[in-house]
Amino acid sequence: MKRSLEERLQEGPVIAGEGYLFELERRGYLQAGSFVPEVALENPEALKQAYRDYMNAGSDVVLAFTYNAHREKMRIIGKEELLEPLNRNAIRLAKEVAQEHPTEEALVAGNISNTNLFDPEDPESKEQVRTMFAEMVKWCKEEGVDYVNGETFYYHEEAQIALEEIRKQDLPAVITLGLMGENIMRDGCTVEESCKQLSEQGALVVGMNCFRGPDTMQPYLAKIRDNVDGYVGGLPIPYRTTEDHPTFFNLPDGGCSCHLPLETTFPTALDPLYHNRYELAEWAKEAKDIGVNYIGLCCGASPAMLRAVAEAAGVETINSKYSPDMEKHFLFGKDETLKDHNLNYRQKA
Ligand SMILES: [Zn+2]
Repeated sequence: MKRSLEERLQEGPVIAGEGYLFELERRGYLQAGSFVPEVALENPEALKQAYRDYMNAGSDVVLAFTYNAHREKMRIIGKEELLEPLNRNAIRLAKEVAQEHPTEEALVAGNISNTNLFDPEDPESKEQVRTMFAEMVKWCKEEGVDYVNGETFYYHEEAQIALEEIRKQDLPAVITLGLMGENIMRDGCTVEESCKQLSEQGALVVGMNCFRGPDTMQPYLAKIRDNVDGYVGGLPIPYRTTEDHPTFFNLPDGGCSCHLPLETTFPTALDPLYHNRYELAEWAKEAKDIGVNYIGLCCGASPAMLRAVAEAAGVETINSKYSPDMEKHFLFGKDETLKDHNLNYRQKA
């Protein structure tokens, strides 16, 4: 028996692992820059392992990795013919992994996202975006996903088009917004006003994902929570963003000792700017306390970080048996059989 997303939300927080783009780039299977998820066709086992790692770290959902796998992106790289097989395969692999869950089959979500094509001044672009979403959501429907996550929208209207196309296929929608550094949606409305409208228009979950770390996302999640009656989601990136640098796009690294070939630390030199898992866990606790229902991490997340977040939200994960326990560590442990000559040396180690 597999509960729906809505049933799970009614019972408590739902954990959602995202961030496949960065994770598969880090593992060596995806090119930074164009960021197209060809891994679903070229290295399906690598994608399945990443799906599995996030599920085992607490994700209730296996999110099909079709971020950026839309017609326009595939056209730019000259591989439009791979568009449909790529989308379908990413979902099929997600379903295979979801069925491996030992206690309750994981949810499977389809994924559409910011197209970077949408232009509020250009009506033609809006129709193009709608057509792209419609075909991807149709494949989601045919492949039997449990819901569709429309994510990382920085235009309210683009998010609205995504929601409309998901609802046309009668699928539940999770819509999350990516808020850029100006702290306002690029078509001018606040993130809480956008979420309020999307929720009223039928999105099951509304909220934010990506671009921002917990410190610069949480204040907006609180505003969304105050303005929305339905379920709210929050999936920050695990980096130490600040008021001066609220997103990871322009996050400086004062300690870098070399010339960065890509000019910015985004997207391949952010490593020293990570939050540790305990800071992320603190955020997750706070998010849960204010009533965020759909909790996860986005680009940059590792399985160990996601597990810490899930556990802080009160969820025991498949891999919680591997959560840190220093009891038997030779320097820092407490076990009675450990050697004093090592334990007493810990300050000098
Ligand atoms: Zn992200």
